[in-house]
Amino acid sequence: MIEELRPTPPVQEGDRAFWSCIRGGRLVGQKCRQCGEVRLLPADRCAACLSSEYESVTLSGEGVIVTACRFHRAYFKELVAAVPYTVVLVHLKEGPMLYSNLVNEPGTLPTPGTPVRAVLKPFGDQGGLILFEMQAA
Ligand SMILES: [Zn+2]
Repeated sequence: MIEELRPTPPVQEGDRAFWSCIRGGRLVGQKCRQCGEVRLLPADRCAACLSSEYESVTLSGEGVIVTACRFHRAYFKELVAAVPYTVVLVHLKEGPMLYSNLVNEPGTLPTPGTPVRAVLKPFGDQGGLILFEMQAA
């Protein structure tokens, strides 16, 4: 499976709590106290209004596929054995979007609008994976 082959991303000091939640099965984002924008990855400032005030919010992990493509080329040497594999852009219900992979490789390319649910897994010593599983429409 692709998740066993991928390179381990470094965990930054400021991201440790985020990845700890992922490892524990909880998807946590930051909600801006000024404009309400929700971001997934920890950041010092809101990208929409630049406010530094936020609160942590638990995200549902539910979303839809915006687009998908199949990678036939390994952009990391560790993934040579995994190609071809599917990459999806997911729009989470609360607003954030992220690129990821599916837990199970589909037989055909997923169509935009396909509902998905996050599957969180520990990865490496401190990191985690946010993968997605397709749900029945
Ligand atoms: Zn904001």
